[in-house]
Amino acid sequence: MKFATRLLTFNPAPGDRHTPANTPIYQTATFRQSDATEFGEYDYSRSGNPTRAVVEKHIAALEGGTRGFCFSTGLAAITAVTRLLVPGDEILACNDLYGGSYRLFSRILPKRGIQVRYVDFSDLDAVVASISDNTKLVYLETPTNPLLQIIDIRAAAEIAHHRGALLCVDNSTMSPYLQRPLELGADIVVHSATKFLCGHSDVMAGAAVVSDEELGQELYLIQNGEGAGLAPFDSYLLLRGMKTLALRLDRQQSSARTIAELLDAHPAVERVYFPGFADEEQLRIHRSQASGDGAVISFVTGDPELSRAVVEATKLFAITVSFGSVNSTISLPNYMSHASIPASLRQLKSIPADLVRISVGAEDVGDLVDDLGQAFEFASRLNVSAKALAAD
Ligand SMILES: *Cc1c(COP(=O)(O)O)cnc(C)c1O
Repeated sequence: MKFATRLLTFNPAPGDRHTPANTPIYQTATFRQSDATEFGEYDYSRSGNPTRAVVEKHIAALEGGTRGFCFSTGLAAITAVTRLLVPGDEILACNDLYGGSYRLFSRILPKRGIQVRYVDFSDLDAVVASISDNTKLVYLETPTNPLLQIIDIRAAAEIAHHRGALLCVDNSTMSPYLQRPLELGADIVVHSATKFLCGHSDVMAGAAVVSDEELGQELYLIQNGEGAGLAPFDSYLLLRGMKTLALRLDRQQSSARTIAELLDAHPAVERVYFPGFADEEQLRIHRSQASGDGAVISFVTGDPELSRAVVEATKLFAITVSFGSVNSTISLPNYMSHASIPASLRQLKSIPADLVRISVGAEDVGDLVDDLGQAFEFASRLNVSAKALAAD
């Protein structure tokens, strides 16, 4: 079966004698036991809940893994993965990461005795040189966010495995519809399911998927033992959102391509960051590991004030952190999603102050194009008069 069919073809309620067509929200903390010493399949929702079990199994299958675990947020899923490490272990991470992952890695993990080193993963020799015997986890995103750099998943897996480390890939910007890292050699895939998987900005959720049985058991111990599993209602919303993943992404991706081309041709835009516009080598890697470019685009104008004015002048693009929703959004990553990067790491990852990130939604593409056009026009006029005023 093709992916779009698989998205919709799963048992919505295993074992439910009413055979509902849709997954019920098993909004219950506890499950009655038949007697004092016999446990049924479920006993307590932190340990397992039928609604969560359906979405976990579904995500695992879509990512090509065997076990999936859903958490209250993407960062809770990433945190759970880092719990596989013990004090003294090291993480080797890509230097272009989501701001919240940086914060976790640099301000919280070191206090637990886990050091994180960052390296530019587009330079594989540097990765080989940086990995050490203490490296237990290699961690990356691709395309990275918000600069949309491409990292070679297969090569990273080889380097990690050669030194006995696990490779974890954050697949939030692509989703399993476009990229399945486990099939490329990764050991763990994590998601901010808040983004494309859910797709409607109505739930916070995270996921971790593995193929290895032992790793699955360890992650289950962490999920149950630490208690950050996804709640039944949020599991239901995530499941509902995921059904239209292919439908949404097909539309959003095709509109994103149109908008990326428009931006690329716009005189006020200096550079567009979009997987499809990557240089030859990066594009070759991306095409070999993903089947599309996604719906996130970044660009710079060369002028932070102009960028800010464009962001504020759009009407259909809501100014919000996050991406992946059916509604188009726009942001200034340096001031918003990536402001959480500690100052000490800023030089590692410099996000240009004039960088604008847009996440293209499912609105009519003509309306989106018109909106960006008017925003650029308005912002340019405003910017010109502000400059004239300043010069006076
Ligand atoms: C948003 C995001 C996260 C964190 O997910 P939350 O659901 O916000 O906790 C992690 N990685 C990437 C790439 C993200 O965009």
